[in-house]
Amino acid sequence: MAFKTTIEPFKIKMIEPIHLSSVSKRKQYLSDAFYNPFLISSDQVIIDFLTDSGTSAMSSAQWAGIMEGDEAYAGSKSWKKMEKVVRNLTGCAYILPTHQGRAAERILYGYLGGKGKVFFSNTHFDTTRANIEVTGAEAVDMVVEEANDPLLELPFKGNLDVVKLEEKIKEFGPSNVGAVILTVTNNSGGGQPVSMENAKAVRHICKRYGIIFLIDSCRVAENAWFIHHREEGYGNMSYKKIAKEMLALADGSIMSAKKDGLVNMGGYLALKNKNLAEACNNSLIITEGFSTYGGLSGRDMEAIAQGLKEVFHPDYLNYRIKSTGYLGNKLDEMGVPVMKPIGGHAVYVDARAFYPHIPVEEYPGQALVANLYLTGGIRCVEIGSVMFGKYDDNGKLIPAPMELVRLAIPRRVYTQSHIEYVIEVFEKVLTRRKQAKGFRIIKESKFLRHFTAHFEPL
Ligand SMILES: *Cc1c(COP(=O)(O)O)cnc(C)c1O
Repeated sequence: MAFKTTIEPFKIKMIEPIHLSSVSKRKQYLSDAFYNPFLISSDQVIIDFLTDSGTSAMSSAQWAGIMEGDEAYAGSKSWKKMEKVVRNLTGCAYILPTHQGRAAERILYGYLGGKGKVFFSNTHFDTTRANIEVTGAEAVDMVVEEANDPLLELPFKGNLDVVKLEEKIKEFGPSNVGAVILTVTNNSGGGQPVSMENAKAVRHICKRYGIIFLIDSCRVAENAWFIHHREEGYGNMSYKKIAKEMLALADGSIMSAKKDGLVNMGGYLALKNKNLAEACNNSLIITEGFSTYGGLSGRDMEAIAQGLKEVFHPDYLNYRIKSTGYLGNKLDEMGVPVMKPIGGHAVYVDARAFYPHIPVEEYPGQALVANLYLTGGIRCVEIGSVMFGKYDDNGKLIPAPMELVRLAIPRRVYTQSHIEYVIEVFEKVLTRRKQAKGFRIIKESKFLRHFTAHFEPL
């Protein structure tokens, strides 16, 4: 018999205290931080939903691995362990360890990019786009049209538009295409999954035109859960096998192990082609470290090798996706406008619909971020016009397409009662929605302003 409660498939061996605080204290903290959640210190936060990156709790087996770490400069046993696990997962012969995902991106796109080159992706994650554009190349997003409707319930809203892909390849010319990158799940597109069918179609097109096909595999295990439960023909296949089948379609993959690697730091680049791997290896040695550690400690590599095994455990993945969905669905039921269906690692709230009386020029997303913090000490992030807004020549705001607030859920960190608490905080914020006021930016930098901007309540 199935139970209605999905329990955390782990128990707690070591705890980290949460510093509880009063509303009046948080008022002070928030104003001291100029109403920017990135400027609040973590001990002033009760529930930290700022990001799921590098915030996972490690298992006892991972911590045991930390003690086993072989810190040899060359040929470390810990590296051999990690290499074996990653080879098995990706089907690639050449594995390069890196200190995190963007280091692998810089090495690979630094080589494949350059002026006149173009890259296509369902949605380039910010660091992916930055590492492509810094070489002078262009990064073009082409997620399926349906992804732009936040309320449309479809199984694979992270898919790449393959019709558009072929058109664009013809437009730019196949020899100018640096690579096609499938991001699974589609982080910047609400953590929505990509189907196996879509990955196969992308591979087919890349093969026909002789273009490199890569997978940004940060959340490939979470994506496999969605394929298993939503795509025909995969209901009996293990999550690991699904991930392997998908990764085997590509010429290589990049991973930030800070996500589905269940570690706090690390990543890798996996490639099938020897010449490409050799070129990347040279760059790795110059900037990251020797090929058998690439900027990681032996202990980090132990933890990654173990994390990449644990992440595919059916009880873990089931708990992970169900608990994210639990929060999203509860918020939906109480009338909080959320993006649907709920993705794998985060719940996205439509702040414009939440606070229809706050104009985009007054940043409704920032208002919701502030009120969640004041009411319950929940830290999350605006993904709207604070993050992506621009100004026209007259200094008028060109708003982002959507005003979202992201609640990113760290892996294995919070329990059901933490989530129940978050739901209660939302209830309170919801009843006071009419009184909420917007914000004005009083100080900002030219690039990535959301990290450092100062705000003032209106
Ligand atoms: C986090 C992330 C990256 C970059 O990885 P870092 O470890 O943060 O450098 C790249 N792509 C996606 C989809 C990500 O989520």
